[in-house]
Amino acid sequence: ESVHVASFVKEAAEAFEKAYDRRIDVGVHAPFTIITDRAKLRQILYIFLDNARKYSDDEIHLLVEKNEIRVIDKGIGIPSSDIDKIFDRFYRVDKARSRKTGGFGLGLSLAKDIAVAIGADVKIESEEGKGTTAIITLSDISEYRATMNEKTE
Ligand code: ATP
Repeated sequence: ESVHVASFVKEAAEAFEKAYDRRIDVGVHAPFTIITDRAKLRQILYIFLDNARKYSDDEIHLLVEKNEIRVIDKGIGIPSSDIDKIFDRFYRVDKARSRKTGGFGLGLSLAKDIAVAIGADVKIESEEGKGTTAIITLSDISEYRATMNEKTE
């Protein structure tokens, strides 16, 4: 189905804010429309938002860029030695710091699986002690039509 990514992200942010009482700042730099599975895209976004919520205390930023959705937090970050493993099933950085948030280390591996299913790409950039950016890349894939002009869909 056709998903207008800016309104999709705004809706998701509102629902998440209500559910968790956390402030999310949404910035739209490039509105675009994409043909994809809305429910699956929402699952990926929620996994990233949930991690941002668990591993940071301040405002979460959501950015809609050309072909991308970015979830940005200014939280504890991920050590560079762990960054290659965080998409592995059951992998959690340092059990001690993660224990208070619970979880099984499944969120990111699930996000990756869902991304593969809808032809999207997910990646994480992070700096320990500074924060983390999770990026969903939505185009580059021939069967997905992305357009900068939301009115054409
Ligand atoms: P769950 O099974 O509930 O998803 P989880 O959060 O531990 O638990 P993942 O979402 O797979 O599992 O994340 C794996 C690990 O990557 C986390 O345990 C955490 O250490 C690290 N991580 C993920 N996102 C962030 C983030 N935004 N900031 C800091 N660390 C993160």
